[in-house]
Amino acid sequence: MKQRIVITGAAGFIGSHLSEALLDRGYQVIGVDNLLTGDVANIAHLYNRDFTFVKHDVTNYIYIDGPVDFVLHWASPASPIDYLELPIQTLKVGALGTHKALGLAKAKGARFVLASTSEVYGDPLEHPQKESYWGNVNPIGPRGVYDEAKRFAEAMTVAYRRYHGLDTKIVRIFNTYGPRMRVNDGRAVPAFISQALRSEDVTVFGDGTQTRSFTYISDLVDGIIRLMLSTMNDPINIGNPREMTIEQIARAIIQATGSTSHIVHGPLPTDDPKVRQPDITRARTLLGWEPKVSLEEGLVRTIQYFKEKVG
Ligand code: NAD
Ligand code: UDP
Repeated sequence: MKQRIVITGAAGFIGSHLSEALLDRGYQVIGVDNLLTGDVANIAHLYNRDFTFVKHDVTNYIYIDGPVDFVLHWASPASPIDYLELPIQTLKVGALGTHKALGLAKAKGARFVLASTSEVYGDPLEHPQKESYWGNVNPIGPRGVYDEAKRFAEAMTVAYRRYHGLDTKIVRIFNTYGPRMRVNDGRAVPAFISQALRSEDVTVFGDGTQTRSFTYISDLVDGIIRLMLSTMNDPINIGNPREMTIEQIARAIIQATGSTSHIVHGPLPTDDPKVRQPDITRARTLLGWEPKVSLEEGLVRTIQYFKEKVG
């Protein structure tokens, strides 16, 4: 009997890659998504495999027939422009959706993995960020709808572990990029690639000295699956520790696309974190995980995908 995995947010960027990787490893996958920010085009190629798609809003009761071995809760808007446009849905899926997904795992005796985020660290006062850091989040700022929803989701996940004895895991994902991000997603890498391929100005917000650490999607998926199969229950950072400024990533993308675009500066969004870099000692020592794909190689693969999408 194949093990069965429910993935919420399966039609999204990460959810679709995760579904595919788990099918490749011999699992049966049930993808649940309401297509709020996802697209069936991301999973259409999985329909002839051991994959079932259920269109459903996971803030409502999730009904799945038969046994379930793992519940992976990935549903949530993730791009700042998405969660600024969808503040209530973002809070609801982080709070009510996490509660429903945990309830499903409890009912089925399944193991549970929460997609959390480096945003729980907010605009961090500790650098690089270790899992022990509690964060610096503005609860009433525009990003609060996402950051606080994820912090609540972590608290709810830990409560199910402590109170119900559920086997739960929490992955704190740092900025991840790759094919299947939307052209108009608004996050830095897809925005800069689309602009560069169209020879438009590349829009760096602020003076561009703020930093991020970018992880290629296949490295992230490898880390998630290692965590899923581990005995770890504490939160774990998965992210590439190679930190760079936003100006540097913009220049790298202009160079990699061979574009004639120029960088223009716009206003820095409210509460935009100034630095972000994961300390991955825990992932290295407890999961044996290391990122393998260089930024240069990851950009080549991502640009290839965007060339087909950008008209
Ligand atoms: P995405 O927008 O591509 O995917 C999110 C998916 O969730 C979409 O398919 C969307 O339709 C679905 N969804 C949203 N609300 C739902 C609901 N109520 N019911 C059912 N489905 C719903 O974003 P992504 O980048 O793939 O992010 C996926 C997860 O990973 C999110 O939980 C996000 O917070 C987390 N994450 C992503 C990153 C990153 O860099 N991509 C970083 C940190 C955390
Ligand atoms: N950013 C930018 N131009 C864009 C999109 C984003 O300069 O067109 C900046 C943004 O202000 C932030 C960084 O790039 O400092 C990463 O933004 P992203 O939306 O990718 O993710 P975040 O880490 O802020 O959640």
